[in-house]
Amino acid sequence: MKFLDEYRDGKIARALAAEIAAAATKPWVLMEICGGQTHTIMRYGLDELLPPNVELVHGPGCPVCVTPLETIDKAIALALRSDVILVSYGDMLRVPGSNSDLFRAKAQGADVRIAYSPVEALKIAKANPDRKVVFLAIGFETTAPANAMAAWQASREGLANFSMLVSHVLVPPAIRALLASRENRVQGFIAPGHVCTVMGYQEYESLVEGFGIPIVVGGFEPVDLLEAILMLVKQLESGEMRIENQYVRSVTYQGNQPAQQILKEVFEIADQKWRGIGMIPGSGLRLRPEYAAYDAEHLFDLQLITADEPAECISAQVLQGLKKPTDCAAFAVRCTPENPLGAPMVSSEGACAAYYHYRRHTVAS
Ligand code: SF4
Repeated sequence: MKFLDEYRDGKIARALAAEIAAAATKPWVLMEICGGQTHTIMRYGLDELLPPNVELVHGPGCPVCVTPLETIDKAIALALRSDVILVSYGDMLRVPGSNSDLFRAKAQGADVRIAYSPVEALKIAKANPDRKVVFLAIGFETTAPANAMAAWQASREGLANFSMLVSHVLVPPAIRALLASRENRVQGFIAPGHVCTVMGYQEYESLVEGFGIPIVVGGFEPVDLLEAILMLVKQLESGEMRIENQYVRSVTYQGNQPAQQILKEVFEIADQKWRGIGMIPGSGLRLRPEYAAYDAEHLFDLQLITADEPAECISAQVLQGLKKPTDCAAFAVRCTPENPLGAPMVSSEGACAAYYHYRRHTVAS
């Protein structure tokens, strides 16, 4: 299949791995930001193809994993109201809140519905004018434009029974926070190709200049990732740090400008709490005041709900690349995809789930 087979070709992958081994004369720690990239790395064993001096650590780019615990608690509280239909992406239903999850709420009789896009939530709102329909709008810059479009459309159509519980996060401020941390070990980043397809990669230039690190926009197939790693290693070895684009078949410097336009019209930048990590200034999106009528947080007075992470879950360190999932004492023992303690074990993009599915043999005894 064009644009797929050649990016999964074993011969090309092994040749790239050999080039990386030849180019890397020093130890380097690289981070892939996106959970989809983490899953490719684990699934195809790319880290095992690399020389021992090139270490991959996994970043915070799993939207389900970084959605704050209290957002889940708020969604559950909404779902349990008899006048509300809570609409969510399927992945979110099994993410543990403080005491429950949306699946259990559904089992208790809550009207929780799964959607593949916010447009479906709009349709549900139109079909149920006597109920309040709340869409759980989470994710990175990839899902935000569609969610912005839903709020814009609801406003245009005067849909009074639709609102969104918004928990959107942005990649560049998260990279900035990781780099500013005294614990940081990461020397180069693979930026997420889908986020950059929407946003372009001009925002990453100030990170390269400010922190003197290389960033390569990478795709999601094995050859994409190995090529991005090679580009990072070459930069690090030469000492010339810049932003480069490996994912040229999808990403342009400017990105998708109509998508950026609708984002700016509906959302504004806000401080955002990341699950496990805490508050990162300017790292989220909230609805602009003009769209306050669609903001479930205010409509249902949810601001007072707060929550603390379970102490046993070390997802904060996992999401910052400081620990691997197998460093967690609960991994595959008390925390499994069937009984997750933390979100990274639930999501199809979570690092703990990737290690569980593809690396179970490395479980600590
Ligand atoms: S294995 Fe489970 S408990 Fe441990 S960090 Fe991952 S999600 Fe949290």
